[in-house]
Amino acid sequence: MNDELKRLAAEAIDSHRDELVALSSAIHATPELAFEEFRAVETLTAATRRLGWPTETGVCELATAWRATLPAASDGPVVALLCEYDALPEIGHACGHNLMAMAPIAAAVGLQAVLDRLRGRVAIVGTPAEEGGGGKVIMLQRGGLAGVEATLLVHPSSHSVVKTEALACEHYDVEFHGKAAHAAGSPEKGVNALNAMILSFNHIDALRQHILPSARIHGIIRHGGDAPNIVPEYSQGSFMIRAASNSYLDELMDKVRRCFEAAALATGCTFEWHQVSPRYETILSNPTLAGLYAGAMEQLGIDCPMESDQGFGSSDVGNVSWLIPSIQPLFKIADHIPNHTSEFTAAAASPRAHEAAFEAAKAMAFTTIDLLRQPQLLEQAKRELANAVKTGA
Ligand SMILES: [Zn+2]
Ligand SMILES: [Zn+2]
Repeated sequence: MNDELKRLAAEAIDSHRDELVALSSAIHATPELAFEEFRAVETLTAATRRLGWPTETGVCELATAWRATLPAASDGPVVALLCEYDALPEIGHACGHNLMAMAPIAAAVGLQAVLDRLRGRVAIVGTPAEEGGGGKVIMLQRGGLAGVEATLLVHPSSHSVVKTEALACEHYDVEFHGKAAHAAGSPEKGVNALNAMILSFNHIDALRQHILPSARIHGIIRHGGDAPNIVPEYSQGSFMIRAASNSYLDELMDKVRRCFEAAALATGCTFEWHQVSPRYETILSNPTLAGLYAGAMEQLGIDCPMESDQGFGSSDVGNVSWLIPSIQPLFKIADHIPNHTSEFTAAAASPRAHEAAFEAAKAMAFTTIDLLRQPQLLEQAKRELANAVKTGA
């Protein structure tokens, strides 16, 4: 590589591979759910302190949020590399967040080797509860990313892409309250909360024909009664409603709410819903950052297209991306294995996955080098964001 700083950064990352894989493996082996990622935080922050980076835990009054700042020779703009480390119930690290915990630290190891030749700062920000809870949204509200001029994070997947798309998403728990009765002896005295839940699913399925194909509505029933001979007096479910634009999600939320209200009306139940997570917004992939990352992947000889037509979910980095120039490229760790499956959990611990995470980490480091070496690029990224916010896309 003829760019000396990038070559040095890549070499530094390669020379720390074993310790970095050990971090990812430790997190993979002890999956923890949203806001309970205590062992992961201990593992990661012990590493950042060992590397000599001042590290603060419990930032933004969140026990499992943290921040490490690389010692730098000069002041200047701050680029934040974002970590995630929460897992999913039952299937562990099925989204591979062990890798996206490791990659920013790997990138920072590379950057530390060249930071005295750049103008600016690099922070690693540990963001809890991406799989529900919206850690980044809470951190944003509490000023956790104040002063940051760009954020980068990378996510494992079964394909690679620079400009990740994400649906805006609302997550609600829904409860119906009815009245118990003997299901055979006096059913006329009962008000059936399970029926209200089943009707809700049917109403949503009827609605589905008339919504934009990119929108998604999906849910589960958590509680549907206690015994078949008791009319269920209580039912509980959990639903996610997603759309390709923040404004269409508003429209959809009204329609979905009516599905539940109609079910309550038909059965005589009462209905309430509670927001589980703050709204996740769509991701606005910053063109300047995306261009730099794509260029870095090309330098590394990795195939990573700018865009993809594959399906996607939602992320709380969406909310970050509407305030701070950001990208969340995906890196491929397996063939045809969707995230959120136990097969993906296994893939996220493989040597191939770690190899791909190191390449993504190098691309993050190269992108940061470009940004801190050419401050006009950060200005350009900020202008692009301001324009995108103005037009709403
Ligand atoms: Zn996920
Ligand atoms: Zn994920």
